[in-house]
Amino acid sequence: MDNRRLLAGIALALLLGAAGAIGRAQQPLDVARDRPVADVVFTNGKIITVDEKFTIAQALAIRGNRIVAVGTNQQIAQLAGAATRRIDLHGRAVVPGLIDNHMHLLRAGTTWAREVRLDGVESRRQALDLVATRAKASPAGEWVYNIGGWSVDQFADSRNKFTREELDRLAPNNPVALQESYYRTYLNTRGLEAFGIRDGASDPADFPKGSIVRDGSGRATGIVEGGMGAVRAIAGKMPRVADQDLEASTLSMIKDMNRSGLTAFGVAGCDQALLPMYRKWEAQHQLNVRIFCIDGVGAGTPEQVERALPRIANIKLFQGSDFVDSVLYGESVYGPLHDPMFDSTSDPKPEQLTQWRRLATEVAKNRLPLHVHAELTHTIDAFLDQIESINKVYPIKNLRWMLAHFNQSNAAQLERMKRLGMYAAVHPWNVINGGIMHEIFGDDAYEQPPLATIQASGIMWGFGSDGSAANQYMPFITLNYAVTGKMTSGLKVMRQTIGREDALIAFTRRNAFFVFQEDNLGAIQPGKLADLVVLDRDYLTIPADQIKDIKPVLTMVDGRIVYDVSSANGTR
Ligand SMILES: [Zn+2]
Repeated sequence: MDNRRLLAGIALALLLGAAGAIGRAQQPLDVARDRPVADVVFTNGKIITVDEKFTIAQALAIRGNRIVAVGTNQQIAQLAGAATRRIDLHGRAVVPGLIDNHMHLLRAGTTWAREVRLDGVESRRQALDLVATRAKASPAGEWVYNIGGWSVDQFADSRNKFTREELDRLAPNNPVALQESYYRTYLNTRGLEAFGIRDGASDPADFPKGSIVRDGSGRATGIVEGGMGAVRAIAGKMPRVADQDLEASTLSMIKDMNRSGLTAFGVAGCDQALLPMYRKWEAQHQLNVRIFCIDGVGAGTPEQVERALPRIANIKLFQGSDFVDSVLYGESVYGPLHDPMFDSTSDPKPEQLTQWRRLATEVAKNRLPLHVHAELTHTIDAFLDQIESINKVYPIKNLRWMLAHFNQSNAAQLERMKRLGMYAAVHPWNVINGGIMHEIFGDDAYEQPPLATIQASGIMWGFGSDGSAANQYMPFITLNYAVTGKMTSGLKVMRQTIGREDALIAFTRRNAFFVFQEDNLGAIQPGKLADLVVLDRDYLTIPADQIKDIKPVLTMVDGRIVYDVSSANGTR
């Protein structure tokens, strides 16, 4: 345990010299000779710095894009000049900008504005209202849809499945497809027709056998389920936003991320075709999230492995900036050993592991960091077997190799990982999938992931969502789950709860390390970039069941206010 909360107001020295350690730091300030004038000061707050001592302070000062001082009101007041913007926090809590270490962010931007997103919606009634509102606003025949990020078990009023009939009533003129995580899709009559699914007729060939749920008379219920194949048969046909709307869709997504307190991401699957748009915004000082890509070379057969090896040797990471960069190899190493979501068990074959090992050896040999999807317990064990033997030839310590998702892990695996110097990127799918995972794994689902065991092991670990399809993206909903074990509906789905401080560290300082930004991000400290979030209530003291209700009132990225509730056109 390195985090010990200190009492409010304990003075932090103005550690301005720390800036010397920072890559792209501005000119260090010299208080003694030339009193610096801050551009912005925040005072009268409860600054939850998440530094190594978990210090709480009253005030902070920012110059340019960096935090220059953290301390008492009195200390910080000395840094304010006539031109300084002064923000009185009125006692509000401030936390570092939250970092999600694994989100499929770029992909999400290509559909975001078209989707009826249900992330964080706690009422089934409200979810249906959102569908109805979108249908009314859409031209007849246009899809009303979403691609995951929710399940009916998140609703506090009723967890009943959606029916074909009620979706018909809400959207009589539009096809509807609501994708529940990666598990199930709800279609209305027009949606069924669009896929050629007819009552009393045989199923279209592109759906896995039995995935179209029918009643006793052969009438389709509107429910399609039965693994990823069934879900993807529908999701793959949902319209992306038009090219001319891509920027607006992506910007609306980024706004939603800032509204939820997120300021940086480990991004799984960075689409190279989309990155120039983000780089353009960066050049214009208008990019409001930081993107650290997890990129790999796809391979699913021995022949593809042969072609992938020289490409791995040529990978150059860390060529970007503190806004857009590629920092990790992943998230898939060898396709056949990428556990599909909601499979109950895995059986990695020796010939598959041979291929996995060839690829991972090349990653180690080229000293690349690794962030690899490892979900089911047999897969985790098999990967660790391979890594232990690779490690004898090409040591991986300090390369920042991490297993991702990690839901079905255990104490023995954690010990092996610690010996190897590995980390865990934890993406608790239970946050929205708790009900579904209980159907699949029974009571074992309560231990997935074994958060308290992970925390107690002392391994370095961080939180991510694996959004936007497999999970919801809102960090305070994940924090609520980590501390209470509950979904937003109040349904208890996880027994291994952890403390609030440890959970917050996993969403900030740890993830900064996981995306190679520990000198810049993850804590409110002099010298670090000014990414922070002002909260409407105090994360550390409100009743645990209310953590999910915390709403950021102001989000700052790189010293710029990117979200301000007082000027934001609030949606929900
Ligand atoms: Zn994954």
